[in-house]
Amino acid sequence: GETTKPPPTPSPLRNSKFFQANLRILVTGGAGFIGSHLVDKLMENEKNEVIVADNFFTGSKDNLRKWIGHPRFELIRHDVTEPLLVEVDQIYHLACPASPIFYKYNPVKTIKTNVIGTLNMLGLAKRVGARILLTSTSEVYGDPLEHPQKEEYWGNVNPIGVRSCYDEGKRVAETLMFDYHRQHGLEIRIARIFNTYGPRMNIDDGRVVSNFIAQALRGESLTVQAPGTQTRSFCYVSDMVDGLIRLMGGDNTGPINIGNPGEFTMMELAETVKELIDPSVEVKIVENTPDDPRQRKPDITKAKQLLGWEPKVILREGLPLMEEDFRLRLGVQKKK
Ligand code: NAD
Ligand code: UDP
Ligand code: UDP
Repeated sequence: GETTKPPPTPSPLRNSKFFQANLRILVTGGAGFIGSHLVDKLMENEKNEVIVADNFFTGSKDNLRKWIGHPRFELIRHDVTEPLLVEVDQIYHLACPASPIFYKYNPVKTIKTNVIGTLNMLGLAKRVGARILLTSTSEVYGDPLEHPQKEEYWGNVNPIGVRSCYDEGKRVAETLMFDYHRQHGLEIRIARIFNTYGPRMNIDDGRVVSNFIAQALRGESLTVQAPGTQTRSFCYVSDMVDGLIRLMGGDNTGPINIGNPGEFTMMELAETVKELIDPSVEVKIVENTPDDPRQRKPDITKAKQLLGWEPKVILREGLPLMEEDFRLRLGVQKKK
């Protein structure tokens, strides 16, 4: 059977003096928002060689422009719903649109990406003996009946709603990870990511922080979706990347919540952005979308204990860093 097979041996070239890198790392979805920041951090370590596989649905080459042509970097246009043959030691599996606008655009494709895509990356990990990390989501808790959310909570998820392609898709992806772990002895890591923000977010991807910052810079009203009392907890992207790398390097399979426990209502977020960027813009209440979770805040006890990780960047420090990036991309100068 599969489990009695000897561990795969790396190609002879890997051990030769011509080979520099000690670790070859695949990042699926590496051209996206979190993925590209993860690649930046991994590339800082000269012992790492990084391969990105991305279909550019929501990501772009532009996010990786500083690495294109670098000898330790490779970019492959590839859709993870198709099999992939590469030889790697670690896989960070991020490929999946994260914003509701994009994951609802073609929901069947979103499910295929989560299910078939994760299955393929697990098959790859099994073949080459790589450790694999899945970026799951706080959405697996659905509209939570427990607050804050601990990893043991099973969630309150609608299986037939318009968000289901994403949250049920991620739940199946987690199941697949654990079944490959139990059945084939794979080394797995699961991160449950809570709302993350920072430079390189798609400007018009509809997520709340990017919307508010873009609206404030364009002098438009900030659109708070009703009722405005719903809460979220926002993690700056550098903290997120740090957490993912620690999880990959540690001994725990997870799932582990990675997020910033600072909790804000959407009305508070709008007021903060308004105050930081342009106190003259208006805040208006608009209609919400179905199944919007009313509150969300991570319990990060596990991340603290098991990874020695906690976020460092508070919202008021992170927002101006994102503002700077959005000003450049939107071509809006700071008022003197
Ligand atoms: P993103 O949309 O910026 O990045 C996703 C990347 O995956 C993009 O580059 C996209 O082109 C690529 N991709 C999508 N489908 C693909 C496919 N079938 N084959 C190959 N590549 C594909 O999103 P992000 O915010 O960087 O999110 C990265 C991961 O983190 C996702 O798995 C997402 O579910 C998870 N996550 C993000 C957040 C957040 O707040 N940003 C929260 C929870 C979970
Ligand atoms: N797979 C892949 N790359 C590999 C090995 C496997 O993409 O290097 C895919 C393979 O095409 C299959 C999936 O991963 O669809 C699961 O592979 P596994 O070997 O676990 O299952 P099986 O091929 O026996 O169904
Ligand atoms: N939201 C909002 N205005 C916007 C976009 C979103 O008030 O322009 C709200 C939305 O109703 C939700 C919260 O912000 O309650 C977070 O939405 P987002 O899509 O950013 O993330 P997710 O729902 O996946 O947590």
